[in-house]
Amino acid sequence: MESEVFYPQSLEELLQILDTTKSTIYAGGTDLMVERRKGRKRNAEIALPIIHIKDIKQLNKIEIANEYVEIGACCSYSKLLLDKNVPKILKDAILTIGGPAVRNFGTIGGNICNASPAADCIPVLAVLNSELTIQSKNNQRIVKLVDFILGRKKVDLKEGEVLVSIRFAAKYLTNLLFQKFEKVGLRNSMTLSKVSVAIILTDDKKIHLAFGSIAPKVIRVEENEFKISRKKIGFKDFAKLYKPYFNAIDDARSTKEYRENTALLLGYNLYLEAFKLLKS
Ligand SMILES: Cc1cc2nc3c(=O)[nH]c(=O)nc-3n(C[C@H](O)[C@H](O)[C@H](O)COP(=O)(O)OP(=O)(O)OC[C@H]3O[C@@H](n4cnc5c(N)ncnc54)[C@H](O)[C@@H]3O)c2cc1C
Repeated sequence: MESEVFYPQSLEELLQILDTTKSTIYAGGTDLMVERRKGRKRNAEIALPIIHIKDIKQLNKIEIANEYVEIGACCSYSKLLLDKNVPKILKDAILTIGGPAVRNFGTIGGNICNASPAADCIPVLAVLNSELTIQSKNNQRIVKLVDFILGRKKVDLKEGEVLVSIRFAAKYLTNLLFQKFEKVGLRNSMTLSKVSVAIILTDDKKIHLAFGSIAPKVIRVEENEFKISRKKIGFKDFAKLYKPYFNAIDDARSTKEYRENTALLLGYNLYLEAFKLLKS
């Protein structure tokens, strides 16, 4: 009988398995296991066989190459927190994710591929202009993170493909004049986002701003960033620029109205903080 669990030890081995077998990629399992236990559909969600990818060395590296910081998809949050090549804003977001146990297992690649609107790494990686390396046995492609996330739990990943790494410009380790991630949840720790905002100000005086949890996918509008970086705008104008992109939901954690109003207030206050430095 064929094995229902694979433990590839190299990327080549993984790509070979993915090429021939319809399967479920399993990194840290912190989203997959929750999915599996949801409601009465126990065991219904995960297609067998399962491929454990966390042992693969190539997916666990953090390095600087060609002016990019390149983070392997299977790097756990705990590993990222200890690495000097991970920007503070990403570490700040990671520190809000689960508790130490979840951070030991959960991976950055899993956070992206699960594509929850509440995924905390996604708005941060969006403001860092992150790109993803996606690989299959016969092809490799680079795709922008904001294009990879297609909607709630939907990503641009085809059969046979795996997310190998995430990269962003290494200059972001040193050239940020302001960087902040904030989220609002039900309580102060161990909580999922009702709303999240990530913002950076680069040394060429450009504000990048992204919102999480208030639409099926992360919201980053570069056209708006040009306007809000050029001159200081009031709250009403800020709301006019961003509200049309919001499409939050009512759920057990919050209401659409609360989410959208909070996102605007949080986003605007962080914008004012960044703008002060932009002009100084
Ligand atoms: C108690 C608890 C608290 C949590 N709190 C937070 C929180 O505050 N904020 C937050 O954002 N998240 C939170 N999470 C969610 C979770 O920890 C993260 O989303 C985590 O990063 C998922 O990574 P993983 O390796 O466990 O993914 P997995 O569960 O292994 O996989 C998730 C999905 O991604 C796919 N996948 C994984 N890696 C790859 C890859 N390299 N290529 C292609 N597909 C891949 C899998 O097939 C699966 O569909 C919490 C989870 C728990 C259990």
